[in-house]
Amino acid sequence: MSDLLDLPCLPADGFDAAAFDAAVAAQRQLGCAGCYQASTDALEQLLATCPPAEQHRRGAVLTLLAQQYPRLGQLTASARCATEALALAERLGDDRLRADALTTQAFVYSQLLMGREALSTGMKALAAARRAGDAVREAWALCRIGIAYASLDNPQQAQASVGQALEIAEAQGAAEVRFACLNNLAYFWLRCVEEARVAGDAATLAEAVCQARRTAEQATALAREASGSPYQVAVAASNLINALLAGGLLDEALPLLNEFGHLAHDHGYRMLAIEADAQRAVFLGLKGEPVQAARMLEALLNATPEPPPKLRRLLVRSLYDTHKASGRYREALAWLEALVSLDRQITRDNLVLQTEVILIREQVEQAQARAESAAADARRERARAAHLESEQQRLREHANALDRAAHEDVLTGLHNRRHAEFALPLLVEGARVAGQVISVATLDVDWFKRINDTHGHAVGDAVLQQLAQLLRHRLRSADLMARIGGEEFLAVLVGISPPQAAEICERLRLAVAEHDWAATAPGLVVRVSVGIAGGLPPLQADQLLQRADQALYAAKRGGRNRVHVD
Ligand code: GH3
Ligand code: MG
Ligand code: MG
Repeated sequence: MSDLLDLPCLPADGFDAAAFDAAVAAQRQLGCAGCYQASTDALEQLLATCPPAEQHRRGAVLTLLAQQYPRLGQLTASARCATEALALAERLGDDRLRADALTTQAFVYSQLLMGREALSTGMKALAAARRAGDAVREAWALCRIGIAYASLDNPQQAQASVGQALEIAEAQGAAEVRFACLNNLAYFWLRCVEEARVAGDAATLAEAVCQARRTAEQATALAREASGSPYQVAVAASNLINALLAGGLLDEALPLLNEFGHLAHDHGYRMLAIEADAQRAVFLGLKGEPVQAARMLEALLNATPEPPPKLRRLLVRSLYDTHKASGRYREALAWLEALVSLDRQITRDNLVLQTEVILIREQVEQAQARAESAAADARRERARAAHLESEQQRLREHANALDRAAHEDVLTGLHNRRHAEFALPLLVEGARVAGQVISVATLDVDWFKRINDTHGHAVGDAVLQQLAQLLRHRLRSADLMARIGGEEFLAVLVGISPPQAAEICERLRLAVAEHDWAATAPGLVVRVSVGIAGGLPPLQADQLLQRADQALYAAKRGGRNRVHVD
């Protein structure tokens, strides 16, 4: 996972992080104020402008979107955002982001009645929040775990988890999660009310109504004083109205009904508005106006656009209740049948959504795996390129070494014959072009065979090496020095006339003669003969060499240990 951290994380050119953060904060505010549609649209646009390298910022926006989409009834959009945020969190190893993404994912799963997934996702969110040491996120995770339990039909665990979340939220003074907890508790109690009513259990019903009312009142009060979000006030009021209607407290319900209806309609919360109208109808039914109530409910049911299935279910259920309560059993039965078939449809729809959410998860996971394997490929490619580069460097060095070896005499480190044959014509041509004189000297060790014979081949080698040293030392002005035969050397001096070369070589001859050869081998004596040829080109290199050789033979014939100029 952490391998991916070597992806580029630098801010892209032209991206203004401060302006982006300010814009996101403003949209978060807008969302909190209940303007979910506008806020969500703006956040999607911001996300589109956020460079991929800005992984933390993208994660934060995706989480926010995932939290807001369910308010717009768009569960799969929420699932997609949450899953992408989770992938980013995994990549970044960020437990807070991970907790946020998982918490939202758990909520979506609960809404789609994927209880098991919701529960295990909620547990992971809780673990991430605890790892991050973040109590508020812990409360959110516990709250979602409670909803997961509720969707698994485990009301006791549901209440326990949300109760725990509520305690943390109160201790932390975290109003938003506190509101969510109270609201969920109210909802759970309302479900108990339903069950008690179906079971005909009057005592449990009374208790459940009382608890539903208590928690819904707390939620409503909190929404009014802390959040200032009309959406939250509306949601809490809706629960409270249900509790009051269930308890038969019609007079208390009426002002709330009016307020809720206004809030929902004025702010364009379509789902809540239908719910408010349905509650008004139920209220009328309970007030003894079942016909009018049924007419209202049917009108809502047939409205265009058609209400979403969950709301249709509420309306059909209310129609059934209303007809049944007023003794019109034939109509009640028809609505009951409609309810059964609607439930079947909701189950089918849910399965489709569940599949879609699972596919989204698969897609994001596959994309992540692809990104990871692409990153691994890139790393391997980089390593391969680095290896190739070092291999090439090694080959270059090897070639250089071979090149040197091809032109160098191994024993003395001077140039070899091959190099001399290559370089001499160039030096001659250079001198010709520059109008310079040039001198060529060939130097041969006198009686070298004897030296080998007397002192051994190793001493002969040492003599050749020391001679090379002396040559380098004494003929610094030479443009070329080479060992061109066993004990034969060549020096080329550009810009030096043959008489000047003779002087230089004479000094060299003396230096050789005076050298402390006895230090190399007792009784060792070394002398050299030198032949010089040269002048102003247009001489050819091979002619020059030939004439220097002839001069050398002359030196030998003349008695050796001397310099002879052609
Ligand atoms: P001259 O004064 O006429 O030049 O006599 P010389 O003995 O120097 O000449 P000659 O050509 O008869 O002998 C050259 C000797 O150099 C023969 C050979 O064994 C020896 N030699 C050639 N290359 C090397 C080498 O690399 N190392 C050693 N130790 N001896 C070498
Ligand atoms: Mg010799
Ligand atoms: Mg020789």
